[in-house]
Amino acid sequence: MRVAILSDIHGNFDALQAVAQELSPNDEIVILGDIVGYGAEPERCVEWVREKKARATLGNHEACILGLFPVSWFNPFAASAILWTREHLGPGSLSFLGTLPLSFEDYGCLFVHGSPRSPVDEYITDPWQAREIFEEQDFSVCFFGHTHVAEGYVWDGKRTERIVFLDGGELLLEEGKRYLINCGSVGQPRDGNPKASFGLFFVEERRIVIQRVEYDVRAAARKILLAGLPEVLAYRLEVGG
Ligand code: ZN
Repeated sequence: MRVAILSDIHGNFDALQAVAQELSPNDEIVILGDIVGYGAEPERCVEWVREKKARATLGNHEACILGLFPVSWFNPFAASAILWTREHLGPGSLSFLGTLPLSFEDYGCLFVHGSPRSPVDEYITDPWQAREIFEEQDFSVCFFGHTHVAEGYVWDGKRTERIVFLDGGELLLEEGKRYLINCGSVGQPRDGNPKASFGLFFVEERRIVIQRVEYDVRAAARKILLAGLPEVLAYRLEVGG
């Protein structure tokens, strides 16, 4: 069985389509939140997720759109994109977003947007923080998103090692070790590589492949400008930052 792990699509349908071309019809699909926000095609992205019957967790952008987080928690660009997105989602999509859980478990793994101890809003960014989470929380493998950086943390019971997947990569899960894995962002990478990022989990082999895919960044950026969304949201796609 192969599970495709997509996170932080952020309304970027051009990036999502490029990733979708790499998937097979038999893949199960998991989305780790932030389907919408920033990009100009939120409705098409939510429709795709529903059509594919993908399972998804709640992201901080969805939480804000649903009124669970105040808009004031976001920087002005994100806040204005959230308000724009709320106006550009149909009632069916909004009620779908309202059904998303904070996290779920399957294939022996935990799936969450932010972190196991604070599912929607904690950013995992360094090995010391990862170590705290390994010590506090009970999971073997956790897939997370939110930072838009493709990387992982491995805990062998003594120390935490950080793995960076800058232009993709592969990881074999070892018995006795624990993992926090971020497959990167589909629609707004922030690790200096503008290519869309996603993961493939080969469940029986316990193998994870992180893949980067080129897509029409210009087209996605143009749609953001035409929609009247903040210009910075278009330009950052070109640098992956
Ligand atoms: Zn995000």
